[in-house]
Amino acid sequence: MYKELIQQLGSTRLVAVSKTQPTEAILNLYDQGQRIFGENKVQELVSKHEALPKDIEWHLIGHLQSNKVKYMASFVSMIHSVDSLKLLEEINRQAERNQRMINCLLQFKINDEATKFGLDQKEAFALLESASYPTLQNIRLCGVMGMASFVEDEAQIRQEFKALHQIFDALKDRYFPNDDNFKEISMGMSDDYPIAVAEGSTLVRIGTLLFGARNSGNPQ
Ligand SMILES: *Cc1c(COP(=O)(O)O)cnc(C)c1O
Repeated sequence: MYKELIQQLGSTRLVAVSKTQPTEAILNLYDQGQRIFGENKVQELVSKHEALPKDIEWHLIGHLQSNKVKYMASFVSMIHSVDSLKLLEEINRQAERNQRMINCLLQFKINDEATKFGLDQKEAFALLESASYPTLQNIRLCGVMGMASFVEDEAQIRQEFKALHQIFDALKDRYFPNDDNFKEISMGMSDDYPIAVAEGSTLVRIGTLLFGARNSGNPQ
């Protein structure tokens, strides 16, 4: 499964979403060569980082509260879920305390679901034009992230991924034309990754397809 998926992804990189999975299951993928793992809860990210090989790149993919940034600031390699200037400022503060850079993606709300977090394009423009943003020397904005609606309608999902790609292009043109770090479009999960890859995803976040269904009742 793993090798086939990697082949299918081509140049799109895989974030193996290991939330709720035991360390043995993570090590199984690690032994097959996987190095990027994603978690949606800070506490779980921290305990798995402690327990597992130190060359794993840990990505935080779930909603993040400012007061939790400090627990992972020493090691997290990318935060996919930045949805406010306040959060970005706190990530910068904690990165500075740890004398490092933290890679971040801006999360956009591209789906039609009421509960999902994320910016719209106008809010992102405001964030990037704020007086504070240029002072944030310890964060590196690397691109955008979004989640499509949980629907069967492939045309709708494709449209949502296209919208995220357009937001990426707009931000790239306007704010990052000469910044090679701004290159990531994090989109696509177990059920919709082929559409995401076709629409230009550079990072897919896949859990269920790799590990099997999570046994918690909560889909998140
Ligand atoms: C759980 C989760 C995924 C992976 O979902 P699967 O359907 O298990 O592949 C991707 N992105 C985010 C933000 C998640 O919380």
